[in-house]
Amino acid sequence: MKDTQIPTDKSPFLETEASGHLRSLLRSILGSVPDAMIVIDENGVILAFSHAAERLFGYRAENVTGRNVSMLMTASDRDHHDRYMDNYMKTGEKQIIGIGRIVQARRANGESFPVELKIGEARLHGRRLFTGYLRDLTEQQANAHRISEMQAELANFSRLSAVGTMASAMAHELNQPLTAVANYLEAARDLLETPDPETLGLVTDALNAATTQSVRAGQIVRRLRDYVSRGELELRPVDLRAVIAEAVSLAKIGLEGRLARVIERLDTDLPQVLADKIQLRQVLLNLVKNAIEALQDTENPQICIQAECQGKDRVRLTIRDNGPGFDLTEGHDPFNPFHSSKPGGMGLGLSICQTIIEAHGGRIDLLSEPDQGAAFQIVIDAAPGGPPA
Ligand code: ADP
Repeated sequence: MKDTQIPTDKSPFLETEASGHLRSLLRSILGSVPDAMIVIDENGVILAFSHAAERLFGYRAENVTGRNVSMLMTASDRDHHDRYMDNYMKTGEKQIIGIGRIVQARRANGESFPVELKIGEARLHGRRLFTGYLRDLTEQQANAHRISEMQAELANFSRLSAVGTMASAMAHELNQPLTAVANYLEAARDLLETPDPETLGLVTDALNAATTQSVRAGQIVRRLRDYVSRGELELRPVDLRAVIAEAVSLAKIGLEGRLARVIERLDTDLPQVLADKIQLRQVLLNLVKNAIEALQDTENPQICIQAECQGKDRVRLTIRDNGPGFDLTEGHDPFNPFHSSKPGGMGLGLSICQTIIEAHGGRIDLLSEPDQGAAFQIVIDAAPGGPPA
């Protein structure tokens, strides 16, 4: 073990006080204390710097002793520290001493990182010494962050699985207005067999009633969509590459064996997008999963995911496959719910994608030529002023 620096010329205070014994005791403490330990005087001058502190900050003890402790702090914590010290010296009021708090520290390479700081005070021959114990919280904070992300994901997944249950309840609820619409229309048709001014009035009434009922059905569907994409959108700068990679690997779960080649064409200077990462991933997951399923009978199945800048502050994302595509001549809007060609499908996926993208202030369109495969195009905001992802 290398010799720990015990301040001498830079801190005559310790030098004059420390007997040989005391010095070797201090040296062994500084070398073995597991947490980073820093001793400063009442002016903030560093008197001692433990081995663990050297490892944590990337400084050698001899390069920091005699200098002000503020060199180990980020700008904002430096101001706080000066104020705490001033206040403590004037009033004796303990704001951190013996309590501990979380601060941002600064390594020799300029990187800032969170630490838990606990401070103890000692008096030696009428002078005050402060000992700071620091514990690196980088990993702990990263874990806490990951856990909260996972909790959010879990909440999202359980909401989606609840949709299955809810959909059957909704189907039941929808049945009523739809039956009423059918009845009113049938009545109107029958009435039109004997068209006279009186029956025409009744026809108008029946058609009005049918309209009211179909609006009600629309509201029920909207409620379901809102439920699925409910919750505050947490819009943050998001790295699209990472979201695409996660969505593609999630989409393949449960679809083993149906191999589609996924080609990514992402602009090199692609900016981050402003999005709720989990919701955006859900959209891409739905689209890629749909594409994989649509490609089951296609030879040489391929999905191309392309992302490029659109103007200065938008990003365009296209998910294209070489499958059967959509027959739009059938006249129904694929984003309308409850249209599914799959045996177990609910026909809600595309409708949910649309709700989520519109909640982001973006838009999603289907570009599909017959026999040309399907292509979904999404346009959303780039994160303002952010560096390229
Ligand atoms: P679901 O997957 O439950 O059917 P969606 O709303 O996601 O619900 O999709 C609705 C329908 O749109 C699907 O059943 C399928 O017929 C069609 N579809 C979706 N994506 C594609 C695609 N990439 N290619 C061809 N058809 C698609």
